[in-house]
Amino acid sequence: MSTVTTPPRVAVIGAGLAGLAAAARLVEGGAEVVVYEARDRVGGRVWSETLQVSGVPHPIERGAEFVLAGYDVLRGLCAEHGLELVDTGMSYYVRTPADRPSVTTADMAELGGVAARAAAEGTGARSVADVLDVIGVAGPAREALEARIEMSTAARVDQVTAEHTLEHVASFEPRPSWRIGGGNQGLPDAMAAALGSRVRLGAAVEAVVQDDAVVRVVSGGSEDTYDAAVIALPFGVLTAGDAVRLELPEWKRAAFAGVVQGNAAKLHLALDEVPEPSAVMSVGDRFWTWTANELGGGVGPVLHCFGGELGKLRALGIESGSAEWEARVRALRSDLALAASPAVMTAWPLDPLARGAYTAHAPGFDADDAQALEAPVGRLHFAGEYVDPEFTGLMEGALRSGVRAASAILAG
Ligand code: FAD
Repeated sequence: MSTVTTPPRVAVIGAGLAGLAAAARLVEGGAEVVVYEARDRVGGRVWSETLQVSGVPHPIERGAEFVLAGYDVLRGLCAEHGLELVDTGMSYYVRTPADRPSVTTADMAELGGVAARAAAEGTGARSVADVLDVIGVAGPAREALEARIEMSTAARVDQVTAEHTLEHVASFEPRPSWRIGGGNQGLPDAMAAALGSRVRLGAAVEAVVQDDAVVRVVSGGSEDTYDAAVIALPFGVLTAGDAVRLELPEWKRAAFAGVVQGNAAKLHLALDEVPEPSAVMSVGDRFWTWTANELGGGVGPVLHCFGGELGKLRALGIESGSAEWEARVRALRSDLALAASPAVMTAWPLDPLARGAYTAHAPGFDADDAQALEAPVGRLHFAGEYVDPEFTGLMEGALRSGVRAASAILAG
């Protein structure tokens, strides 16, 4: 017989934004909550550190960076926790294709708009590559468009659906983009502080097992029982098979087939001079570089770089260190006074607690697939950037999915 204690006891597995948002909502709704986090910090793929430049620390985002249009939940949480958003002074959506000099950012915006409209008007299971074929873009402009979209989805244009992709992560609208002042990490840190001792760091979950009456969470060799659990693990970890023991029905696993795992890495280099805001990409090598405002208004003396998808990351040699990528960045941004100090690289595909960067949807992904990704399995509820149908892959999607999973548990 199924039983629920009063107040309900809920385990949240993973203290990224999805898990923290779920935990906050559950606590607000009166639940008893324990958050299990394998790392010694919260935030997961939100991970800010500082880079010392001439003895001064400047924030760097080793994971998620840009706060984009429509981030209502994130903005609300920043306001709640007294965090300020900083306009970066550049646009995530506008990047100069340095190695395709015949293509301007205006060309890219125009063609990107044509592609987005074609994607919105079309029917059927079409990839971004299919839509680029339909609009007939070719040559350097096609190469630049593909590079921009592949960097944003962290996957290849033939792998991802055209629907949504060209409206969200790979939009070409020249909208502003923000970061959380002092580092995006401020948000998960503030959310965790509000949860207090409910968050257990260094608590890797080995198994989650349910029967009719309870959910058992096994961590560090001991077992605790709960009424429900929010599985807020990264898609790459959840589907790895060798990470967390968790029995899932065939319909849930079938829904995973519509999710594409993107892969990305970041690189940060110090500058000897304060630059202007900028956003410049390498079409051939699938990485982009930018300089941006920090809290207080000025541009930070840091060059931020993002590279994706997996094949291109391998070609940049990320599996054996940052030297090759760093050399190519120095060649691309010879306009900047790059310091001699070594770069800081973060390779998410090599992180066992992430196993990739973020997800996108495959061509043909539809509302039923989205519903199946989110649907609970018995007492297990699912949250994470991959679960949100609209802000898939993004911080906002992670937060929204967590709030929804918690609300479903509270609603009984
Ligand atoms: P996660 O943050 O990964 O949280 C899952 C947690 O589960 C982690 O803390 C992990 O340590 C933990 N965990 C794993 N295994 C276990 C276990 N066995 N037991 C317990 N805990 C476990 N988003 C944007 O909005 N804008 C951007 O500009 C942006 N750029 C990005 C750049 C990069 C390089 C990357 C990697 C991501 C970027 N994102 C961006 C995406 C954003 O980081 C994610 O969408 C979001 O942070 C995911 O949150 P989550 O809670 O779903 O997963």
